[in-house]
Amino acid sequence: MHVRPSGHEGSSCHSNHIKFINFAGVNRRRETAPRRLAKCLVLDGRQSKRLSELWPCLGDRNLCDRNSLTMESVQADNMLIDRAAAPELDRARGRASLVDPFGRAISYLRVSVTDRCDFRCVYCMAENMTFLPKAGLLTLEELDRLCSAFISRGVRKLRLTGGEPLVRREIMTLFSSLSRHLRSGRLDELTLTTNGSQLGKYAHEIRAHGVRRLNVSLDTLDADKFRAITRWGSLSQVLAGIDAAQEAGLKIKINAVALKGVNDDEFPRLIEWAHGRGMDLTLIEVMPLGEIGDGRLDQYLPLSIVRARLAERYTLEDLDYRSGGPARYVRVAETGGMLGFITPMTHNFCESCNRVRVTCTGTLYMCLGQEDAADLRKPLRASESNDLLFAAIDEAISRKPKGHDFIIDRSHKRPALARHMSVTGG
Ligand code: SAM
Ligand code: SF4
Repeated sequence: MHVRPSGHEGSSCHSNHIKFINFAGVNRRRETAPRRLAKCLVLDGRQSKRLSELWPCLGDRNLCDRNSLTMESVQADNMLIDRAAAPELDRARGRASLVDPFGRAISYLRVSVTDRCDFRCVYCMAENMTFLPKAGLLTLEELDRLCSAFISRGVRKLRLTGGEPLVRREIMTLFSSLSRHLRSGRLDELTLTTNGSQLGKYAHEIRAHGVRRLNVSLDTLDADKFRAITRWGSLSQVLAGIDAAQEAGLKIKINAVALKGVNDDEFPRLIEWAHGRGMDLTLIEVMPLGEIGDGRLDQYLPLSIVRARLAERYTLEDLDYRSGGPARYVRVAETGGMLGFITPMTHNFCESCNRVRVTCTGTLYMCLGQEDAADLRKPLRASESNDLLFAAIDEAISRKPKGHDFIIDRSHKRPALARHMSVTGG
């Protein structure tokens, strides 16, 4: 069976380069839906493109031009269009953007693509962690579909996190497929938070998929201390990853968790090192998430104290700059760089919260500091249409709480939340 070029083909084109067509009878019974849908993509004219860029599950195959496709008939049909066009279709159907009961528009989605990690940072994980069974994880195609659904409802910034996002197998295919939303202008930013251990391997590829800036977590520049904090990590590997990312043209922000008696003597060194390399630095207060074995009270260091100490040494100029996140920034006059403070414990940043988080099993958390969550995996898998998924998202957003109420004091021996930060991602 060979393509019979038909007047109908490509009539539902929604992209500069790609024509979408539906092959009415092609192997429909034998092929999985994504495979069939991806087959429906024909690049305009003579171009060919790696299918894996368009639909990760198809692997590394070339999308052939229309003459070599086999099918019985060609018929335009918007209902079977590839997911790449779904956000436009959803918009066309008039779906409203996501606004919570307090009038906050949800424009920022963080997705934890795995709860696994190659480190075991002492404030984040216990040494012996039980990770989620792989069978419960959303596939990369499902993660793509979920992210795309949020993008169609007004999410403009997407951060992949974890666990360590770069240890998830084939994760580049997700970056690759999501990058189409950057090209289409529906997404302003695709970014990630990483421990840096895999940047040496992936920095150039990440850049090629449209990532322009990323956060690297680094709490110390002392190799022994680094090993003690991360339990399993290598400082030199992370520093080499940072080098690779900067060489690839990625802008980096360093995140450091402030740990009492561990790295609190190092902040000036971290500031001067980061700013000297053109990287901003953000300090984070330890949050009481997950059972970690050691007492958190011992780790907790209020950033109000850190800031006061730094102000004795540097000129800290308050800035209005907001990165879209909860950090408050100052400029360090002596270095010229920016220093951020994320203070969930001493200062509640919830009033301007524009974000929600999805785990690798498709659980939506409307607030990092609350247990309430919604299962999106079930509606995602229940149907190829996004209607059930949207209904579940709308219902969840209508429950987004006003804010969190973390507490660390001697009367609260248990973590405020049983879930680890690696489940929802930082
Ligand atoms: N593995 C990646 C990394 O370390 O950057 C991404 C995930 S990690 C959970 C994201 C951020 O959360 C990191 O900057 C980490 O330092 C921070 N983090 C983890 N547990 C935390 C906790 N209990 N309190 C405050 N920050 C935490
Ligand atoms: Fe892994 Fe990041 Fe948690 Fe450290 S903070 S254990 S690198 S997920």
